[in-house]
Amino acid sequence: MISFSELGLSKPVVAALSELGYEYPTEIQAGTAQYILSGLDVMASAQTGSGKTGAFALPVIECLDEPDEQPRCLVLTPTRELALQVEEEFRKFCKYKKLKTATVYGGTAFAKQIAALKKPVDVIVATPGRLLDCVEHKYVNLSKVEILILDEADRLLDLGFMPQLRKIISKLPKDRQTLMFSATLEGKVAAIASDYMQNPVTVRVNTERLDVESIDQRFVHVKEYDKDEKLIELLSAIQSDKDIEIAKSAAAKEAKSKKASKDDEPDEVELRTDSVLIFTGTKRKASWVKDRLRDAGIKAEEIHSDISQAKRESTLKRYRAGSFNVLVATDVAARGLDIPFIGHVFNYDLPELAEDYIHRIGRTGRAGRSGVATTFVSDEQKHLLASIENIIGIKKEKPKLSMAKQAALKRFHSRRR
Ligand code: AMP
Repeated sequence: MISFSELGLSKPVVAALSELGYEYPTEIQAGTAQYILSGLDVMASAQTGSGKTGAFALPVIECLDEPDEQPRCLVLTPTRELALQVEEEFRKFCKYKKLKTATVYGGTAFAKQIAALKKPVDVIVATPGRLLDCVEHKYVNLSKVEILILDEADRLLDLGFMPQLRKIISKLPKDRQTLMFSATLEGKVAAIASDYMQNPVTVRVNTERLDVESIDQRFVHVKEYDKDEKLIELLSAIQSDKDIEIAKSAAAKEAKSKKASKDDEPDEVELRTDSVLIFTGTKRKASWVKDRLRDAGIKAEEIHSDISQAKRESTLKRYRAGSFNVLVATDVAARGLDIPFIGHVFNYDLPELAEDYIHRIGRTGRAGRSGVATTFVSDEQKHLLASIENIIGIKKEKPKLSMAKQAALKRFHSRRR
């Protein structure tokens, strides 16, 4: 296996990586670094979860040596959350380099972002709309940008950002390097490549199938009006499983601490419960589902584009910290998020695009852990199932319930009667 130094990364970057505990480059990082470091345009097919942020951030950090007055790298992302996540990765990776980063995204006051842009910034991570506002108000000057990165390019186009992208790109120097990371490289994405990239090298890494393999996918046929009840049923079964796990861990912890008092050994048993992420087709549905879950006594929160940016960020922070376990979200708000410990993804509604199914379920089964994805299929949405089966080559299955879950379900039903 190739090392980070062999990829051409210098000591300060390798040191930051080793502090993060990253031993080897991921496939996409190993596959793209040499081209990016040699200044070539690269279009790469890669998903969140494959280490794609590192694939562009690490060589970029390597290339941008001394800090400058004007931004030299611009990363465009489709969502605000992804912008924040990408900037955080940049900051982690350039711990031992003097580069400055900033995020620019909508839904929040201009003032703080403008203040950050008034200082010298090397890397800007932005969503297109707010960045364009900043460019038009001359808060930011893009004339020195050497590297443009389109992150989740397919999503940028799906969300209708093409006009803004064109305007932004027209403000950049023509002899820049352009990198594009996207789940698919076909269709509209290929058109951008031919319009804005020069002889790009194409790198494909088949991460989709890998991601999916660690996920137990279940399809549940349910009438539209029965979805809430079914969801509450399944969540209660998960909760009961968790209770059993927690009880087991607590027992193990107790046993261990008894042993520790005898042997003076440190207590290392960790109590950890997995989180649940529920995708709905619309923001109204997300609110609806969250309210129904709360009515049933389940602590749930929602994120979607009608929720203020500040609230979305604080909700995600609490979710990551484990303050609550059930998050209901739309694709726009939650796609691409890297949140460890999501044990279950529910597709309350089937996504319109089969690719989105992969993105959604890929929120679980991360970092070598296993995950469960349960998808509700109502008669109204049956037509969408065929393309999903086609893309992942799986068969519809009824959920396999463990003995513990079956018992928990029985208990749950008898309580409700
Ligand atoms: P991404 O695909 O960029 O969303 O990255 C997914 C997760 O993998 C993030 O938490 C990264 O910090 C982490 N990661 C990135 N590169 C590596 C690596 N070489 N080894 C281990 N983890 C990594």
